[in-house]
Amino acid sequence: MKAMNVVLIGPPGSGKGTQAELLRDQNGFVHYSTGEVFRDHIRRKTPVGLQVEQYVTSGGLVPDGVVLDVVNAFMAENAGKPTLFDGFPRTIPQAQGLDKVLSEAKSAVDMAVLVDLQDDEVVKRLTARRQCRKCGKIYNLTFKPSKVAGVCDDCGGELYQRKDDSEGVIRDRLSTYHKQTEPVLHHYSEQGKLKRIDGALGRDRVYQEILKLIA
Ligand code: AMP
Repeated sequence: MKAMNVVLIGPPGSGKGTQAELLRDQNGFVHYSTGEVFRDHIRRKTPVGLQVEQYVTSGGLVPDGVVLDVVNAFMAENAGKPTLFDGFPRTIPQAQGLDKVLSEAKSAVDMAVLVDLQDDEVVKRLTARRQCRKCGKIYNLTFKPSKVAGVCDDCGGELYQRKDDSEGVIRDRLSTYHKQTEPVLHHYSEQGKLKRIDGALGRDRVYQEILKLIA
């Protein structure tokens, strides 16, 4: 595999996080999820966590300046490593900020992969999503249940439902996605870097499609 920087874009619940985990475990990418970074700050009650908590729990977007600060800190430590950006960039200023910090490191986004999914399917999937409190592994009550209800297969941690996975908040997140994040698709398509995959194909086929793109 080439040393690449790949941006995974898609509505919430399209399976980006799951794909990013697979690609990290089997292809050596560094997986960078701004959502995970923020949830970790919130858990640890850091100053960043206190600043972003209201946005994350309500399904709104964290202000671009805060997002770019955490991304720049990450890049300072991980420059030159092939990275999968998951849930970032979500706005045009973020996409421009990423282009800038990568070009300063003599690098660039090589490909943006859209994992696409219809709104109704998103709602169906996300209301059934559960996550391990301890190791972060993602489950789904319908598609990927744990062996024992409420318990992580890997580490025995407790499975919980994210506050922002309730239907009302999901609808808000979708509307934010359509308004703020869809323009980012245009940004990458203008650069000739955008590829689209149908997220409804399911986990394994989506993974195979991504592998074909990055091979
Ligand atoms: P995610 O895990 O990617 O679904 O992100 C969960 C929440 O974290 C989002 O609904 C936002 O409130 C916040 N968030 C994550 N990434 C970003 C980003 N790139 N820009 C703004 N807010 C973000």
